[in-house]
Parts: sequence; C-alpha cells; structure tokens
Amino acid sequence: MNVNQSAPPVPPFGQPQPVYAGYHQSSYGGQPGSTAAPTPYGAYNGPVPGYQQTPPPGVSRAPASSGAPPASTAQGPCGQTAYGQFGQGDVQNGPSSGVQMQRLPGSQPFASAPLAPVVSQPAVLQPYGPPPTSAQVTAQLAGMQISGAVAPAPPASGLGYGPPTSLASASGSFPNSGLYGSYPQGQAPPLGQGHPGAQPPQRSVPPQASSFTSPASGGPRMPSMTGPLLPGQSFGGPPVSQPNHVSSPPPQALPPGTQMTGPPGPPPPMHSSQQPGYQLQQNGSFGPARGPQSNYGSPYPGAATFGSQPGPPQPLPPKRLDPDAIPSPIQVIEDDRNNRGSEPFVTGVRGQVPPLVTTNFLVKDQGNASPRYIRCTSYNIPCTSDMAKQAQVPLAAVIKPLARLPPEEASPYVVDHGESGPLRCNRCKAYMCPFMQFVEGGRRFQCCFCSCINDVPPQYFQHLDHTGKRVDAYDRPELSLGSYEFLATVDYCKNNKFPIPPAFIFMIDVSYNAVRSGLVRLLCEELKSLLDFLPREGGAEESAIRVGFVTYNKVLHFYNVKSSLAQPQMMVVSDVGDMFVPLLDGFLVNVSESRAVITSLLDQIPEMFADTRETETVFAPVIQAGMEALKAAECAGKLFLFHTSLPIAEAPGKLKNRDDRKLINTDKEKTLFQPQSGAYQTLAKECVAQGCCVDLFLFPNQYVDVATLSVVPQLTGGSVYKYACFQVENDQERFLSDLRRDVQKVVGFDAVMRVRTSTGIRAVDFFGAFYMSNTTDVELAGLDGDKTVTVEFKHDDRLNEENGALLQCALLYTSCAGQRRLRIHNLALNCCTQLADLYRNCETDTLINYMAKFAYRGVLSSPVKTVRDTLITQCAQILACYRKNCASPSSAGQLILPECMKLLPVYLNCVLKSEVLQPGAEVTTDDRAYVRQLVTSMDVAETNVFFYPRLLPLTKSPIENTTEPPAVRASEERLSNGDIYLLENGLNLFLWVGASVQQGVVQSVFGVSSFSQITSGLSVLPVLDNLLSKKVRGLIDGLRAQRSRYMKLIVVKQEDKLEMLFKHFLVEDKSLSGGASYVDFLCHMHKEIRQLLS
Ligand SMILES: [Zn+2]
Repeated sequence: MNVNQSAPPVPPFGQPQPVYAGYHQSSYGGQPGSTAAPTPYGAYNGPVPGYQQTPPPGVSRAPASSGAPPASTAQGPCGQTAYGQFGQGDVQNGPSSGVQMQRLPGSQPFASAPLAPVVSQPAVLQPYGPPPTSAQVTAQLAGMQISGAVAPAPPASGLGYGPPTSLASASGSFPNSGLYGSYPQGQAPPLGQGHPGAQPPQRSVPPQASSFTSPASGGPRMPSMTGPLLPGQSFGGPPVSQPNHVSSPPPQALPPGTQMTGPPGPPPPMHSSQQPGYQLQQNGSFGPARGPQSNYGSPYPGAATFGSQPGPPQPLPPKRLDPDAIPSPIQVIEDDRNNRGSEPFVTGVRGQVPPLVTTNFLVKDQGNASPRYIRCTSYNIPCTSDMAKQAQVPLAAVIKPLARLPPEEASPYVVDHGESGPLRCNRCKAYMCPFMQFVEGGRRFQCCFCSCINDVPPQYFQHLDHTGKRVDAYDRPELSLGSYEFLATVDYCKNNKFPIPPAFIFMIDVSYNAVRSGLVRLLCEELKSLLDFLPREGGAEESAIRVGFVTYNKVLHFYNVKSSLAQPQMMVVSDVGDMFVPLLDGFLVNVSESRAVITSLLDQIPEMFADTRETETVFAPVIQAGMEALKAAECAGKLFLFHTSLPIAEAPGKLKNRDDRKLINTDKEKTLFQPQSGAYQTLAKECVAQGCCVDLFLFPNQYVDVATLSVVPQLTGGSVYKYACFQVENDQERFLSDLRRDVQKVVGFDAVMRVRTSTGIRAVDFFGAFYMSNTTDVELAGLDGDKTVTVEFKHDDRLNEENGALLQCALLYTSCAGQRRLRIHNLALNCCTQLADLYRNCETDTLINYMAKFAYRGVLSSPVKTVRDTLITQCAQILACYRKNCASPSSAGQLILPECMKLLPVYLNCVLKSEVLQPGAEVTTDDRAYVRQLVTSMDVAETNVFFYPRLLPLTKSPIENTTEPPAVRASEERLSNGDIYLLENGLNLFLWVGASVQQGVVQSVFGVSSFSQITSGLSVLPVLDNLLSKKVRGLIDGLRAQRSRYMKLIVVKQEDKLEMLFKHFLVEDKSLSGGASYVDFLCHMHKEIRQLLS
C-alpha cells in the first residue's frame, strides 16, 4: 500500500493492518496455553482521538473510503473518552516555558505535614505569600534544605561510616537459596577491607570521567575527603567515631525564624539544638529569597513525633538525624502517583518531564516519543558546553526502541512509502518527522536536524495551511507522531536482498550435571509445547520462525528433523576445533511440518544421555556452530544455549577457573569482570555480522566465569539467565517462566540503531547490550522489547532556547516475520541559559540509570574504589553547582537539594552499595559479573526498583483490600515484628515474617499453627482457601507479572539466619559489607558539597 497519494484511499493512518498488528503479544509472559485472550494492538486507538481534536480549521480528515474498517472493537473502553478529556487542554498549555511542566510539589512531608494534615497539597503553602500559581508553588518548594553544621566540621565529627559489622559469623553460612547462587565455598572478605589504611588512596580517574572536567573536579579537596570510600571508613574522621550517628549542627545553624512554624506535637526538648532545621525555600532561580519563605522550615522535632517505628518507642541516641526528616523515596513516588497518575501524559509539548516510572499513566503521542521509548536525564539542556560542564549533570537518554506497550496504547503505525522508501534529509539522512519544516508552499522542507533545504518529491507534495503546516499532517504518522515505523526497501537490506524469516536454534548441554539435575528432561518436555508459541506477526496463524536442535558436551550432536523422516537423525561433530555444520537440509525446519519428528527427538534426548558420565563441556564451538548454521541458511536468528559448567574441554574458548576473591579491593579486581579470553569477542563480532543473537541460560554448581561466557550474549543483544545449583523441584517454575517469556517475546534481528541530533549536541557514548564497529552505529544482532540502549550526549556547538534540541532514534531491523523495517522515535527537548531550568527538569531515576551503567562499565578498566569515588564526586558537583547557582543565599551549613534531585543521594548510595561496587561476603564473582551485565541493558523502571527495592507491608491494610499496599522505606526500622512484608527488586522476592505475627495470620498464610513451624527458605506458599492467603499470593503474582524475569520467593523469618540475606536489600541501612546508611551518606554528601563550595 502506498500512502503517498494526495488523497489517501485509506482512513487516517490506515495501513495494512497485518503489518503492524504484528506485535502480537497475547502470550507474553504467560504460559503457553494460558487463557489470556490475544490482544493485538488496536489498530486505530490511541493517537487517533488526539488528532481528531487538533486538525487545523477547515481541514477535514481524509475519508475512509477504502481499506480495512477501523478496528474499533480493539479499542479499550477508556480509549476515546479518556483521552478526549485531556487532549486539548494539555496542548493549549502552549510551548513549554520550562516552568509549567514541573513535577508537582508536595513531596515535602517535613513541610506540609506540620502545616496542614493534607499532605501533597501545594495549597497549604498559600498563607505564606501571594496566592501562588502552580509554578510559583513549585518554585517555592524547589529547594530543600537540610541544615548541617555551619562551621567546618571538625575531623572527629564522625560522619557515620563506622566499621562494618563483623562478617565472620555470617560468611559462608547462607544456604544455596538461589538468590544469586551463593556457593558453599563463600569466603569472608579480606580482613583489611574495612581498614582505611589498608590501601593507599587511588585517585586515578577512569577515562570516561575526563569528559566532564569541570573546574570543580580539579578543585582543592582536603586529603581526608578524597580518600577511598572504603567499607568502614569514616568520612573525615577516625574510623572509630560514632558509627551511624551524625554530628549535630550547633544551634546557630538554624537561621533566624526557622522555629516559627514548628509542627504541632511534642516540643523537641532533646533535639531542638541538635536537629537540623528543615526549610523550604524559594528556588534561587526566581530571584532573591523573599523574607517569609525562609520561615517555612522548622526544626524537626524528631522521631518521637513522626517516627513510625513499630513496637515500644525506642529512645534515640541524642545526636541522631531523624530518618523521617530526610527525603523519602516512598513519599516522592506516592506524590507523583497522586499528582500525575490520573491523566494521560500527552507528548505534544516540548521538554515535558514525564511522570515517574513508578507511576501508572497512559501516554498519548502527539509528536514526541513516549517515555516508554525514551527517557532523558534532563528535559532542558544547557545551551552551552560550559554550562553543562559546570553542572556536571550527564545529558543522556535511555532508549528502549521496541518497548512493549500497555494494551491501551497503540503500537507504532507502519508507513509504506513504496519503492521510493522513507523520505529523508539529503544531507544528514534524518527521517521525515513532525519537526521538519515545510517551506515554499510545500515544495521543499528544511531539515530540523541540519537545516538543509530538501526538495519534496512530487508524490509526497501537499499544500500548506495558513500556519505553514501541511494539510495532511494529521493523516500521516511521520508528520504528527513521535514514534512510527517505515517499511524499508531493499536498499536497507543486507546484500540488497529482502531477508528470509529468522530461525531459533536450541542448544542443550547434555553433560552429567545437566542430566543429573533434571534439566535436560525438563527442558525437552517444555519445548514440545513451547514451540507452538514462537513469536508471530500480523495475526499469522503460525510463526515464520524455523527451529533447529543441537546437543553437546565435549562434542556436538546435530539433528536432522526433516518432516519426511520417520525418526530424527543424529550427526556428531567431534572436531570442535574446526566447527562446521554437518547438514543443511533438515536442520532448520518449520515446527508444524516437522512436529512428529521434533516430538520424537525431544522424547529421545533425555533417554539417550541418561547414563552419561561426561562432565566436560565446550562452549565457544557451540555458538560457532549455531552461527554457522544461520549463515548457511542465510538468515538471522537466535541461539538458546542451556549450559551448566566452566568449559574446560580442549577446544577454542576453553576456560580455566580464575576466580579469586582476594582480588577484591585491589587494582586487579577489574580482571574479575573482564573476559579471560579474547576469543569470545572475536566470535561475537562474527555473530553480529550474521545477525545471530545469543541467549544464555546458565545452571552452574560452581564458578563458570559469567564474565567470559556472557560476552557473546552481551555483544549480540542477547540475555543471560543464571540458576545457581539448579534443582528441578526448587527452580523449575522460575526457569520455565523465564524460558517461556524469552522464547515468546518479540525480537528484532540484524538491527542497526542510529541516534541523530540537531546541531549543537551529538551522541558520544553508548551503553547496553550491542556491538559497535564505528562511533555512530549501534549494531544489534537481536533486540527485544526489554532491552535499552543508553546514549550520552555532548555539546559540539551552542544550542538556543528557541529551537531547543532534537533527538531522532532510528532502528533498522528485521521483524520476526522477516520484514525489514525502520522504527523512528523523535523527541524534542528544551534548552536553557539558566542552570535553574536544567535542575528543574531533571529526572533522577534516569540519572541513576545512566550513572549506574557508567560505573558498571568503569569497573572493567578502573579499580572499583576509583569508580565509587568518581560517582560521589560527580554527585557532589551536581549538587554543589545547584547550591551555588540556583539556591537562594542561605547558611553555608545547609544542605540544599533541587526538588527533582532530592533522591539523588539515597539512590546513588544504593548504587555504591550494590554487589558490583561493594560486594558482601555472600556475593560470588559470578554474581557480580551477572548483575553487571544485567544492569547494562536495564530500563529506568528496572534500575529504580533494583537499586531501591520495594518493601510492602501485607497485614497493615484490611484483608479485603487486595490492591498493592503503599510501600515503606527499605530500612529495618520500618519492619514491625507483628507484620509480614514482601520485598522485591525485580530479581529477588522475599516474604519476611515478623516473630510476633498473630497466630491467625500465620495459619492463614502458611497453614501452620505457629511462627516456629514456618519453614525458613520456603519458596512456595500453600494454596489456602482464605482471604489473606489469596491476597498474599495474588500480590506475589502481581509483582511477578510486572517484571521481566521471574522472581523466586524466599520466606525469611525474623531472627533467622536467612535474614542476613534479606537485610542486604534494606538499602537505607548500613550494609554488612560496609555500605553507608542513607543518613550517613547524606551527611557525607553534604560535607563533600561544602568542600566544593568553600
Ligand atoms: Zn538534515
């Protein structure tokens, strides 16, 4: 179909439906054969209502004279009306001024709570000044102050990094819970780990850091502050000083008047002279502080009033900073849900900061890509590189080109420009998009990226309306939407040939370990049914994907499963040094045609190897074989490798056990993350050239060198799954769930992604699971809907406020049906000349995503300690720049955080404490390598919950209320021993049971009569017929459904030894591995900032 005709014979956006109904997701994440009804994306829902409201006067939409009837039945019940209510209003907000789309204030519990019982209502601040507009309120709230000591803190101030709790008793005592697979041989960390003198400070900065060299980074820092952030070390003080306690500021730290508005409640006799004052102040960018505003704050009365500690009140140490008084992730998340969760996010306005990833919201595409596809660290970019360097805020976008959408939102429309292909700028090759400017009556267009004037091809010509807009703008996705697809012509195909559909090859380790654990039998049984659920497209009855099978130990076995055969035939290749594919015909087959032979094969494999004694395996030759098979078949595809052990058999890519925990905290620690053989990079390069993506399922009983084995999956856009000490009875649910999802998920092959930007900035750095052979093209042998590519931008020229900055991400890929397509995402950002505008439009969750990826890549080349120091320094510089340039003048002793970034310290501390950057004794080298590569392609929602886990109290809300309860902060203080809690971080799931939980609750949930009878480490709750049991199991199912990997449940009893494992996830507390508590880290950060400012 060609939509280039001036009078489109199809409805607006009417495209051949099968083309883009393609993202058939009916069975996503579900079980094969589940009853979930197929919900192909409604072809016409989503964007259409918005367009109906906004065509220019006098322009009627193209008649729906032909083509498929609108798929109105596919529309969600709330589609039209819900959107319709908000569309115009939002658009009429006009161009963003950088002020109006502020995240709403209200997340200041320490201010609003005392003032009025209604939290989250900006209006409570009105008595303090002229009736504020929403922007003014935002401005008033935009600065948060936490006052500390005015005078330079004495060295002995003892900011918190106390010596770590002794690990001696804990190390090695964890059962093989499957958490990350802690092996019995776990070792205690080197004793010197916690001693600041154990290691000389290393200040070598990773090469990446040089990209942000601000004056501040080279500024004077006191030696005691620049030391390594070693576990157990005090900042600026002797390690023995007051662990976990914060030095109190002297009374004069509180500016005059701060006590005027003290909250009701008990007077703070113990703390009044010691608690930091909390102030809300007007954002400095709005001019000098007005008198009244400095009075908002009040000394916080301390936990006695606001603390939610369960049980009898515990007397706090007198100098303790109240955890309730520092910015709470829970509060910020709740406020955003309340403020932004009810209305669709309409993308028509440039530079809007989207709702948080933790907020459920619908997106209405009106010209910018949905935040599900692109999230930015800031939606307002400094105009100059000097400003950017001053602020140190990384400018980055986290892009998820094939993101899955909720059923209410339409998949991108597919545009077919026929043989001429997509319309592009002649100079910079950017694709036609809503920001292109048509001129000369529509005969030409000016490129929004490079300003080149291009001719409009005759078949694409259309008249302009009085505003200069093409009259068909709203009928063409590429002129009105942020995201859409083009059908690619043969010019976009390898060797100028249209691709043939991809293939899946299942490659199964049949060595002794794989057979004995039950894996081989389980997997073969599952594949028999799973093969019916290969990704399909366009409502096709069956998948176009062909399949093949290989088993291996020290040698490889190929199978001929040609449909004409009565029985499968095996061919053994024992020369693994020179891998070839022994058969072409009959290796890759259509599932339905060869079903009988395939079933027979899958029945026979477990029997054939049941008595194997072979323990050695090869690895690289297996990948080589799969890649060669795809090459011979001239198609792209995916290898599913199921592998159990370190490949020590004599073959290319043979590995040795080089695990050495003694390297932790040394200069050689980075080698633990590096591959031990260069052969895998070479192999990966070949795979990428062939469009061969590798997904790796690991089932190790001991060290397998994940760092090396994951190189090929990582560079080919694949996934790695790890099931340590796999046992069918314990782990089959998790494995099968992951496998089903992985096999069924939609994936694009042989992809190339390019990010273009308007003049002034350019993409300079990339993070994710992909390969790059030049500096601009991200090559992905495969790309699925879970994977993100993070792109960092740098200035190469001046930007201006009027034009803003544009991004265009173009992904060329082969669909699972073999169609070559281009997916385009566009995003327009604001530009600013005032730093305050930058700080008002940042997204901390995205910043953390970027910073974690930056750090996790840094450990490959720099000592971990250096990486941590770099993160801390950058965070301090970001906040110091705000303090200096944006906050209104105030006492130097006050910590002032930008509203948008007030969670930066707590989240950054979580990154610093993560197993990659500060491993506990129970974390293996493989765990760290595994997490490192997982985080590399995580999206913002995943990193958010991964670094700051969600802790849900289950028994506080009424039993009838089955909705997800409000989370509480991840700290032991928040746990009541009379309740049970769920904790999840996207990979792990715990059910924590307090020792004093009512007997009835225990009976209802666990089916036993007392706490002592609950099995510690239980992974499956009994199915009991009562409300509480149903509610708890329902919540667990709900959490699992939200995540891309199955989370195995672990029941943890209070005071049980498993609790150590659980406590690792209480990230606001000091960690066993020496990670700082939130309170301590905030104080440390404050100190760093003051150093930078002094
Ligand atoms: Zn251009």
